Order: sequence, then C-alpha cells, then structure tokens
Amino acid sequence: MAIRANPKLITELEIYGAQDVSKCYHCGNCSATCPFSKEPYIFPRRSMRSLQMGLEAKLESDLEPWLCYYCGECSTECPRDAQPGETMMSLRRWLTARYDFTGIARLFYKSAKAEILAVILVALLTAAGFLLYGFSQGSITQYDGPNAFLPASSVHIFDWTLAAVLLILLGTNCTRMWWFTVGRDKKVHVPFSAYVKKIYLLPMHFFTQMRYAQCEQKRPWVIHLVLMLSYVTMLVLIMFFLESMWSGPAVNWSVHVFGLAATAGLLATTIILLRKRLKKTEVQYEQSHETDWMFLVLLIVVAATGIVQFTLHRLGLDTAANVNYVIHMMAVVPMLLLEVPFSKWSHMAYRPLAMYFADLKAEEMVSKEREAVGAPQAA
Ligand code: SF4
Ligand code: SF4
Repeated sequence: MAIRANPKLITELEIYGAQDVSKCYHCGNCSATCPFSKEPYIFPRRSMRSLQMGLEAKLESDLEPWLCYYCGECSTECPRDAQPGETMMSLRRWLTARYDFTGIARLFYKSAKAEILAVILVALLTAAGFLLYGFSQGSITQYDGPNAFLPASSVHIFDWTLAAVLLILLGTNCTRMWWFTVGRDKKVHVPFSAYVKKIYLLPMHFFTQMRYAQCEQKRPWVIHLVLMLSYVTMLVLIMFFLESMWSGPAVNWSVHVFGLAATAGLLATTIILLRKRLKKTEVQYEQSHETDWMFLVLLIVVAATGIVQFTLHRLGLDTAANVNYVIHMMAVVPMLLLEVPFSKWSHMAYRPLAMYFADLKAEEMVSKEREAVGAPQAA
C-alpha cells in the first residue's frame, strides 16, 4: 500500500499543543526512560519519528499516545528539550479530534473562542429550557412536593435523555477509535473470543487507572483516581438515586454521605489540578491547552454549585435552591454534552479502551510470531 506523508503534520499538531518536535534527533532516551515503553509499544521516540515524517495514517492507527500517562519523565530526560511528553498529550488531543465524527472536537481544539461560545450557548439554552419548564408547571418558591418548580421525576427523565445522547455520541466515537486502531489493521486480526476473554481489562483500567501508579511519582495517580471515583460516584447517584438525593430538607445520610464525599473529592482534586496548572512547577503542567482550563472550570462550577444546592435545600431556602439548581445545570449540561464526547473528558473512555485494544493486539502479535517459528502457543 502506498504511504502518503503529510508534510504539514507537525504544524497541524501545534494547534493541539505540540512544540519542538523538530528538535528530536532520535537518541531514544525518552523511550528508555518511559516506565510504560515495552515491546511491542515503544514510545515516545517512535511517535516523534512518525510525526517528523508526516505519517498521518500510521499515527491515526496508533494506540501508543493512550498508553502514555504524562508522568513527564521523558521530557525531563530529553537532551534536546523536544518535549516528548507534551507531544504525546497533543497526539491524544489530535486523536480525539480524529475519532470524533462530528468535527466538533477539532473545532474546539482549533479555536478557544468556538469552545467558549458553544459552552455559553448550551448553558443559556439549558437555563431557558429549565426556567420555561419550571414556570409553566410549578412555583419557584417550591423546591419539592406537588407544586415543585422542577420535580425530581422530570429532572430524572432529562438526565436519562442526556445520558442517551451522550452514549450515542461517545459510543460512535469509540467505535471509530476501534476501527482506526484495530478493525482495519490488516496485519493483526483479533478474534472475537479474545475480546470476550479480556473484557475485564476495560473496567479494571477505567476504575483503577492502575498503570498510572507505575510512574515514579505516585501523587498524580492518586489525584486522578480520586477525581475519577468521585465523578463515577456522582454519576451513579444522579442516574439511579436522584429522588433520594433530592429528598429533604432532612439529611438522608444513606445517599447524601456518598454525594458529599464525591463532591468533596471533585472539588479538592480540581483545586489541586488548577493550582498545578497555574504554578507550572511540574513538567506535565507547564503547558496548558485552552481545553484543559475549560474542563477544570466547568468541573469546579459543578462541584461548588452542588454544595450550595445541598446547603440551600437543607436550610429551607427553596427559591434560592431552585435558582441555584438552574445555574448548576448551566454547567452540568455543557460539561456532559460538549466536554465528555468532544474534549478532555472523552479520554476517560479512550484510555481504558486503548489499554484493552493494546493488550489484545500484543497477544495476537506474540501468537503470530510463535506460529511463524513453530513454537507452541501459550495456554
Ligand atoms: S524526544 Fe528527546 S529523548 Fe526522545 S528521541 Fe527525541 S531527542 Fe531523544
Ligand atoms: S510522559 Fe511519561 S508515560 Fe508519557 S511517554 Fe513520557 S515517560 Fe512515558
């Protein structure tokens, strides 16, 4: 098959945050330093080379950027200051845009203004929708009960509709990811039975991010683990226990304790990450893309308004609680509808998928090699 190089690829990657790729002279220090770089996935040197050569199709089918957790060790060791860690991060953004069939991810990465405008637009539409619905059927002075401004049952239906839209968008992008990285790979055919056998890898990597713990510094892993578990806990509470969460003004400890713990986890980790990005003392936080800020800003608004909501409702301040809830949703909806499928939150899905696919492909490659030399297959 003819290989078509894209001479403008490095310039294109600059939009996604890559810098200094041309400085790389392929000494291999970065791959030797990287705790995750193992056969058959030797990175980041290989990605730097593919980028310099403009091998767009090869990079699109690569899982390696997702195997990097941006511990930053390679960038610290690079003698040319070619920033391989940041390049891997940029490649993850670039791939996010490639997997996205709508083109929205690419638009957000290319233009901070477009992302901000989209977030504002969705926030305003959310506010308009909730206010219209609330005033049409209830009283703003009533938080729950028969004349509630926003009854929990209606909010629940809205949440499930949002989840369905999200699943369609993210599911389609994940399918495209599979097609680019595994499905259309003619050299490695993964049998269906292997997908089934290794399916446990998906929840394992999703919930524990255990590979991240192999970085020399353990703190970033702990922070991401807390962020992840808090987010998932909150999602489960909203999707399955909304009516119990909504109850009050008395505290329902059996569910509220999880809500409070998850909110505290979200707030604490977001503040830590914001501080790190502002201080820039660690290599992985030295350069921030605009999309990194949006992700953190929305998260902090969601967590802060969630706490305010809980407090206002317990104090019996129903009108304020209703107004605050609309503000809360003005951050929740753009976060779920725009950031999860099209921006940094989507990495939560792509990374465990990549771990899963990489394992399947590696096993198949080993199996083919054994077959070629006539060695017995592993049990
Ligand atoms: S990125 Fe740096 S460490 Fe890695 S191969 Fe290039 S010059 Fe060497
Ligand atoms: S940032 Fe860390 S995980 Fe990523 S390639 Fe460099 S050394 Fe490996």
